[in-house]
Amino acid sequence: MKVVISFDFELAWGVADSYEWEVRERSGLYDACHAELPAYIRLLEEMSVPVTWAIVSNLLNSETGHIQTEHLKGRYRESVESFLHCSKPTSRSAVDLIKQVVSFEQHEIATHTATHPYPSHCDIDEDVYMDDVRISLDDIGLLLGRVPTNIVYPRDEAHYHKAIAKKFGLGARINPKILRRSNLPRILKYTSEITNGAPPSRVMLGMSGEVLQTGSALFNWYGGRAAFVKRFCLKAILRKILISASEPRMEKDIYHLWLHPFNLLRDRAVGDAFKCFLIQADGLRKKGLLEFITMNQCGQELLAESDLHKNYKRLCNDTAD
Ligand SMILES: [Zn+2]
Repeated sequence: MKVVISFDFELAWGVADSYEWEVRERSGLYDACHAELPAYIRLLEEMSVPVTWAIVSNLLNSETGHIQTEHLKGRYRESVESFLHCSKPTSRSAVDLIKQVVSFEQHEIATHTATHPYPSHCDIDEDVYMDDVRISLDDIGLLLGRVPTNIVYPRDEAHYHKAIAKKFGLGARINPKILRRSNLPRILKYTSEITNGAPPSRVMLGMSGEVLQTGSALFNWYGGRAAFVKRFCLKAILRKILISASEPRMEKDIYHLWLHPFNLLRDRAVGDAFKCFLIQADGLRKKGLLEFITMNQCGQELLAESDLHKNYKRLCNDTAD
């Protein structure tokens, strides 16, 4: 069995266009990220667990003057500029944390855009979105020397995926709901996940030859009215994943867990559950039953097996000869 873990790393950028960032900033959440995430980053490196970090690239700019907003429009631009003006540096910048992340080369850096725009916002159109992704790729290349091969869409809104894949060749993590279109009431969804476990990640080729992969479960139970049920459900899902790693018929399964790093701190019990999962999964890894891989490795493995891709590579080599 293989396990992919992806982090949506955004600090306050994820809610920069609402008042929520002020609430979270006042609660000390982002200061806690700077104080406590280094221990998690160290743990992942010490255990040699590679993770896909989908970063909002503006976290790499500690000077607000370096942050581009000219491509944005209307109220979205106003709220981003006001956020830049009013927020604390610890809420919008994480240069040291990201430098610590990239010092472990096995971690993958993916993009989560530059300002975290989402297409359902009335001021976000395709041009704005494409520019935002381009800026993020440029900054990650310039400031980290990494070339992202994957994108995680803010709020899972993949409206412009076709254009993104065509122009930038990026693969993506997509919400399984996009494929399943399940209309099950929430309580039945949880009951079904407790009984059947989380769905394995579906990994597939998109129309531009990019790799799409669905998430299996959000590693978090915080928020909403059903927090208690979610907590129970997540624990049941994790138990099922770990148990099924020993079953030969599950050998080829991939499970993709994702979370926001601040989820580990907002409720410390989420952080404890995460560490506990890593330790148990590491035990299975030592027995050769489980492997941690990044989204990029997962995509490369699919491409290596794909006949279409082999033909394409052959054609490229023939043309080069
Ligand atoms: Zn996000």
